[in-house]
Amino acid sequence: MASTTTHFIVGAALALPALKSRRLTALLPGWALPISAGLLAMVPDLDLAGRRLFGIRPSSLLSHRGLFHSPFFLILLAAVLALIVARGASRKTFAYLWLLWAGCMLTHPLLDALTDGGRGVMLLIPFARTRLYLPWRPIHTPDGSVRLFARAFLIRSSEIPFCAAAIVAGVSGLLLRKRTQFKKSL
Ligand SMILES: [Zn+2]
Repeated sequence: MASTTTHFIVGAALALPALKSRRLTALLPGWALPISAGLLAMVPDLDLAGRRLFGIRPSSLLSHRGLFHSPFFLILLAAVLALIVARGASRKTFAYLWLLWAGCMLTHPLLDALTDGGRGVMLLIPFARTRLYLPWRPIHTPDGSVRLFARAFLIRSSEIPFCAAAIVAGVSGLLLRKRTQFKKSL
C-alpha cells in the first residue's frame, strides 16, 4: 500500500486550487477544503480494519482493496457527502464539491494500483471483481518485516515524486487561478 500520509498529501495538494472558488469558500472555511480532501483520500484504507474487527475474508468484496477502493463506490460516497454538506446550496456548488472530493478520493486507488506489492485493486466494480494493477508500478511496498505503523504512515522514497508532483500541480493551479482572476479585475 502507498502510505496513509502520501494519500493525505496527494489529496490535499490537488485540492489547493479550490481555495480560489468563491462557491466553495462560501460553503466551507478555506482550510477545510484541502484538509477534507486529504482526509477523504485516506478513507479507502479503513477497509484494513475489516479483517480484524469483522473477520472479513481476503476473497470478500469488502476485503482490503475491494469495494471501498473502487472508483464506482468512491464517486457515490463523494456524492452523498457533498449532498449532505451542500444541502441548501445551489446545484453548482454541490457539483463543485462533489467533483473536488471525488477527484481527490480517486487518487487513492490509482496510487495503490501503482504499488509493486499487496493485492490488486478492484477498479472495475460493479462490472468485475478482478484485482488490477496499472502497467507501471514504481511505488515500492515494504515487506512484512516492516512495522505496521511505519508501513502506514512513513513516506517511502518511491512515493516522494508523487507527493512532489501533486504539490507542484496544486500550487500551480492555485497560482494560475489567482493570476487569471487578477487579469480579469484589470
Ligand atoms: Zn489503499
